[in-house]
Amino acid sequence: MNLIQFYLQSQTHKVLSVDLRSNMLNHCYLISSKDEFYLHELSIFAVKEICCLNENAPCNICNNCIKIDHGNMVDFEVFPKEKKSLMVEDINLVVEKSYVRPMEFKYKIFLLENFDECTIQGQNKILKTLEEPPQNVIFILTCKNIGKILPTILSRSKKITENILSHSLIIEFLKEMKIKDADIIASMSEGSLTNALKLIENDGASKILELSYEMLINLKTSKDILYYSSKILELKKDIPFFLDMLINVLRDTIVSKSSINLIFKSYSHQYETLKKIYSSNMIEKIIKKVCEVYNKIDFNCNITGTIDQLLLDILEVKYLCQK
Ligand SMILES: [Zn+2]
Repeated sequence: MNLIQFYLQSQTHKVLSVDLRSNMLNHCYLISSKDEFYLHELSIFAVKEICCLNENAPCNICNNCIKIDHGNMVDFEVFPKEKKSLMVEDINLVVEKSYVRPMEFKYKIFLLENFDECTIQGQNKILKTLEEPPQNVIFILTCKNIGKILPTILSRSKKITENILSHSLIIEFLKEMKIKDADIIASMSEGSLTNALKLIENDGASKILELSYEMLINLKTSKDILYYSSKILELKKDIPFFLDMLINVLRDTIVSKSSINLIFKSYSHQYETLKKIYSSNMIEKIIKKVCEVYNKIDFNCNITGTIDQLLLDILEVKYLCQK
């Protein structure tokens, strides 16, 4: 599944295609999604859909679609220009430019990304232009948190809310990218392509996941602490990823008793074993200890000591609760 197919099933496409067909394009759209990567891709496709020269818009191959990809469509501009927040100066420039007639296309389009990060002052600057928009200008605003947008802006925009993506859509996207462990990464992504892409950076997700099962099952004596501590420390930058996996495995062990959806479905056989070792009470105690490790990592505590302590704590919970 590639990105254009994602777009075609999006809310944004549903709204825009109807507006285009009925010749009722709004002068301001506000697209919100928690998924930053997806949101950016969607908004570019939205611009393509408006500018596309073919009937099946966005086609991705016509002159206008290609110009948008190459950043040389003169009547389309993205703000902020660099990876910064929208500044008041950006808004002033957008307002000024919006009064200049389009040069090539029938509309001038401004994409204002992460509009929720713009200050109240900045948001207020564009208000008047949204109230009485110049002819043939379309603003597309994107945001992650609609709560940070001024009500006066909301009331002047057509709002489009994108839901989180399904597990199967994310798997298809990852498979298209030929990512191994697509299933595990999709399970950890919480329905977000942004998260999935971050997780890809961890090579060998399945190995890390298997280490967390193995450690939970086989950690029995202080000698094992030494062995698993060195295994975990070898992960280096992936240690936080291992901790995420560990928490998800523990969570799965609890819910597997009541058969609610598992995060790691393909490992359901492991939960039979884990359930025999860990009660819900024990798991809660261990999760608390894992959370402490995140804090210690944030405070740059000695990582070897921190991991050793975690393993010791797990062993202690096992010992105390089994008595
Ligand atoms: Zn096109």
